[in-house]
Amino acid sequence: MVHVAVFAFPFGTHAAPLLSLVAKLAVEAPAATFSFFNTAKSNASIAPAVVSCEALRNVDLYDVWDGVPEGYAFDQGRPREEIELFLKAAPGNLRRAMEDAVAAGGGSGNAVTCVLGDAFVSSAGDLAEELGVPWVSVWTSATFSLLAHFYTEKIRRVIGVRPEDVLAKRDERLEFIIPALSPFRVRDLMDGIVTNVDGIFPRMLQQMAEKSRRATAVVFNTFDGLESTFLDHLRTIYHKLLTVGPFSLFLPPPSQRDPHGCLEWLDAAAAAVRPASVGYVSFGSFLSLPPPEVAALAEALEASGARFVWSMKDAARVHLPDGFLERTKGRGLVVPWAPQAAMLAHAATGAFVTHCGWNSVLESVAGGVPMICRPIFVDQTMNARAVTDVWRIGVAAEGGAFGKCLSLVLDGEEGKEMRRRAVALKETARSAVGDGGSSSKNFGALVELLSSRWKR
Ligand code: UDP
Repeated sequence: MVHVAVFAFPFGTHAAPLLSLVAKLAVEAPAATFSFFNTAKSNASIAPAVVSCEALRNVDLYDVWDGVPEGYAFDQGRPREEIELFLKAAPGNLRRAMEDAVAAGGGSGNAVTCVLGDAFVSSAGDLAEELGVPWVSVWTSATFSLLAHFYTEKIRRVIGVRPEDVLAKRDERLEFIIPALSPFRVRDLMDGIVTNVDGIFPRMLQQMAEKSRRATAVVFNTFDGLESTFLDHLRTIYHKLLTVGPFSLFLPPPSQRDPHGCLEWLDAAAAAVRPASVGYVSFGSFLSLPPPEVAALAEALEASGARFVWSMKDAARVHLPDGFLERTKGRGLVVPWAPQAAMLAHAATGAFVTHCGWNSVLESVAGGVPMICRPIFVDQTMNARAVTDVWRIGVAAEGGAFGKCLSLVLDGEEGKEMRRRAVALKETARSAVGDGGSSSKNFGALVELLSSRWKR
């Protein structure tokens, strides 16, 4: 019996897409069982998507300890410290959870025959090696960010890691260090490569990129035709690459909650305006803009005269200019959550103001919508650079210049060109997930890999 142990990374938007991938695998391999290991908090937050998904009959969810000792007082600042505590606990923690699950009859009592894990949980690879089973590593960001992690040592050697070295070279392109990364500048690199290099998380990311060479296959949420140059280079490093994205088109959609009626609002707006003229704003599942930029963006949206939907955490509302909500009532909708993938697939949506999280970028590509990029941290800076300078389907909101960007994307000739290119990518994405498309074929190869009684 095939029993796949799945290890999630319980931070940011990592666990939900992994569970969607597992849900689709579970349908394709109904005789297999999947044990999904994740922290209780993360399992609870993705549960609404789970319970509504009939596909999860042969998937069991297990809670693992988050690594935070009882009574622990955080001092570094939550996100990074939480991640580090989880990673520190992960090897022993995950092994125990897996052994307990099997002993309790999980996976129908069958030994684990394959390990599938978020690449950030690289100890999953060690577990697979101990068990002598295949390890499938799932990289949930862009291909070029994996390349940056892989070449971290080389980049540090050439650039240096002293703040003054990094500052002096911030506009230099990486082409002399790694030709495959030529579109990116030193300042596009995520924190942890040449800045803030100490700590468990940056070390883990670097080791993860190296360790993934031992993976039987690396799965990517991307599609052939979007990141070809980077994929070609990665093929020289890793065993087997399987592109099975964009997840938002290919996998069963996580429940698209729409408690604030955004889609209905957009349908009504569409009847009154030309297609591709509504702005959609979101900075992901947990980030917010710095307060002065909230005000700047609000003023730009108000001055633009465009209709817009803004997904904004309730806590950030206090930073909106006085009277903004009243003045824009009817043409603007500000909500704490929107069904983003569907909003971006709507014909009325014409611009996406985004932090460039990888899921957001791919959902925008899948909808053929140009982006206004305001990256905040981690890989978002590299993603934004790819949007503006590799695919040329967006513009950078440098210094909070949202007004200029909105008129360029929604009304300018350049915006039309960006939309044309974005729509062409959308068509390529649709072909990739269609019958006989590259993502569909790679997904078939993944099912085969998981189902075979392959031994190391
Ligand atoms: N999202 C959504 N509605 C919102 C805000 C976010 O559906 O109002 C979803 C979005 O569609 C995407 C995910 O949350 O799938 C955000 O993922 P991303 O990788 O872009 O950013 P992160 O949340 O990891 O910063």
